[in-house]
Amino acid sequence: MNTQTDFDVIVVGGGHAGTEAAMAAARMGRRTLLLTDNIETIGQMSCNPAIGGIGKGHLVREIDALGGVMARAADRGGIQFRTLNARKGPAVRATRAQADRARYKAAVRSMVENQPNLHLFQQSVADLLVDNHQVAGVMTTMGLAFHARRVVLTVGTFLGGTIHIGHKRFGGGRAGDAPSNALAERLRALDLPVGRLKTGTPPRIDAKSIDYSQLAEQPGDEPAPVFSFVGRRAEHPRQVCCHITYTNAQTHEIIRDNIGESAMYSGQIDSVGPRYCPSIEDKVVRFADKESHQIFIEPEGLDASEVYPNGISTSLSFETQQRVVRSIAGFEDAHITRPGYAIEYDYFDPRALSCTLETRAIGGLYFAGQINGTTGYEEAAAQGLLAGINAARAAVDEAPWWPGRAEAYLGVLVDDLITRGTIEPYRMFTSRAEYRLLLREDNADTRLTPVGRELGLVDDARWADFEARREAVAIEQARLSQIVLKPSDLGEDEGAALLGDTLKHAMPAADLLKRPGMDHARVVYIAAVGAPALDGFDAEAVQAICEQIEIQAKYAGYIQRQSAEIERSRAHEATELPAGLDYAGVSGLSRELQGKLADVRPATLGQATRIPGMTPAAISLLLVHLKKTG
Ligand code: FAD
Repeated sequence: MNTQTDFDVIVVGGGHAGTEAAMAAARMGRRTLLLTDNIETIGQMSCNPAIGGIGKGHLVREIDALGGVMARAADRGGIQFRTLNARKGPAVRATRAQADRARYKAAVRSMVENQPNLHLFQQSVADLLVDNHQVAGVMTTMGLAFHARRVVLTVGTFLGGTIHIGHKRFGGGRAGDAPSNALAERLRALDLPVGRLKTGTPPRIDAKSIDYSQLAEQPGDEPAPVFSFVGRRAEHPRQVCCHITYTNAQTHEIIRDNIGESAMYSGQIDSVGPRYCPSIEDKVVRFADKESHQIFIEPEGLDASEVYPNGISTSLSFETQQRVVRSIAGFEDAHITRPGYAIEYDYFDPRALSCTLETRAIGGLYFAGQINGTTGYEEAAAQGLLAGINAARAAVDEAPWWPGRAEAYLGVLVDDLITRGTIEPYRMFTSRAEYRLLLREDNADTRLTPVGRELGLVDDARWADFEARREAVAIEQARLSQIVLKPSDLGEDEGAALLGDTLKHAMPAADLLKRPGMDHARVVYIAAVGAPALDGFDAEAVQAICEQIEIQAKYAGYIQRQSAEIERSRAHEATELPAGLDYAGVSGLSRELQGKLADVRPATLGQATRIPGMTPAAISLLLVHLKKTG
């Protein structure tokens, strides 16, 4: 074996999917190569410098629970943290960090460089080595061959990437990077379903040229949330404010007058862009009656003077971009440092992948990230992690692993992609999950860290920390259910006053926690007992433990109901469908559904139920067929 060129797993691309994939495979003990066209851009954020948000934050916490990189890098690079939906229920609460682009990237790079079993090589991949429908390695543009039986491709928006600014167009993987045209051609020649998608980014502005006196401030939360289960607030760099401004009638008029320049409206691009991140020209056309649109002014970093005006992504000509920007309050003298642009790129229909993100056409070849039609760092990272885990397991002939929809947003993401495919850039939302109350940010570790430990992803320090917190929650819950509070126990003190007349009969202290407005500290105070299980933890860990106890008490009824629902559906969900099942032989099934099933090749009956157009009658026919043939 040549240790320079032979590996267990090769990951191509050092973006968000690639770093998680490579780190996961290496954590699991495989000799892993991260091959990327520029080591300096490892962990680079192509668009807005922010991590998390609704649905996305859930993915980040799950990645973290499995020992991944993203949350820890966000803690070290985050310059403003907020909990979104803080006043809503815990299912939809989500963490969002505004990141210092350079600090975030440096944190990822340092974790990658210090990971045992992980090797880096800088070179662009031009070709795949394929031997009888099984991947055998990759070939770089310089003609260097690297060998592995498991290859994870995470090349983002680079495949056949074309950048559009007004009527100008040129090749690029993102601004400043060359596209991957040779690899795109090679992949197009394989038996894989390919399509085109697009996305866009706003112009960046020099903060020194902005009149902040006209803008509304948007501070972060105090105290700042922490992303990683093993993170601490002390890791956060200095925190800063974001600002808000708005487009106006004049902005909209400039856009309408020049709409023909926009690559999308001139017909230069006909691929589909991210519905939930539309360009400013899209917003002005689609929501013609809206008088203004909000723009968040997000600093790119503590030492950077550039800001990211979130909300005005555009592919208008540079001249028009200048006029649009300068029509906005606070931006009258704005100096653009980089023009906004749209980018079109190849993606592959994820329905051609299995639950492990391995392509069905070529054994050992995995796709993860934007290449699968998703948008967003978090969606990419989550897929990278899953592909890395499965490439690592397959490399030593271990059974595949993937979480179900009831276990993780990661399960929802993969199931949505491989079952339903996507015709527009896919992003995660909490509304995509059926079992939201169980898939919370706060319990991602309880859901996933034990399995992560079994998979070899979770190191001793994280495991010890997790076990200590889990034990403290259990001890404290048991203790509170044994303490019975009686109205007669309460004196004329503040404890009684706090309770008002709500304590009419004796009840366990644990039940008191279910009352609105009650939290752990109050219950402990009223019960006039300490909480010895929490001794030895620092204040941030105590806060997390108490939050767990409170959420589990307050939502116990709903959680039980949802768990029962999952149990009921589990039987069908897990019923396996043989990989070679001949759907044309399932009697009574329509040709259309036979075709859809043959295309998707669901692994389980549960997955089959989610194929668009699938009916309960068709599922019954499948069950009958399985009984007959099984
Ligand atoms: P990337 O982060 O793009 O990483 C790909 C990696 O592969 C890079 O390191 C690259 O150098 C490397 N690479 C490429 N080709 C090769 C090769 N042949 N050989 C070796 N290495 C290679 N997301 C949002 O959520 N909201 C947005 O508004 C948004 N706007 C965007 C605007 C633009 C202009 C772009 C480019 C992206 C935008 N995104 C947005 C998407 C976000 O950047 C991606 O979803 C995310 O970066 C995808 O991660 P990835 O790991 O799949 O790919």
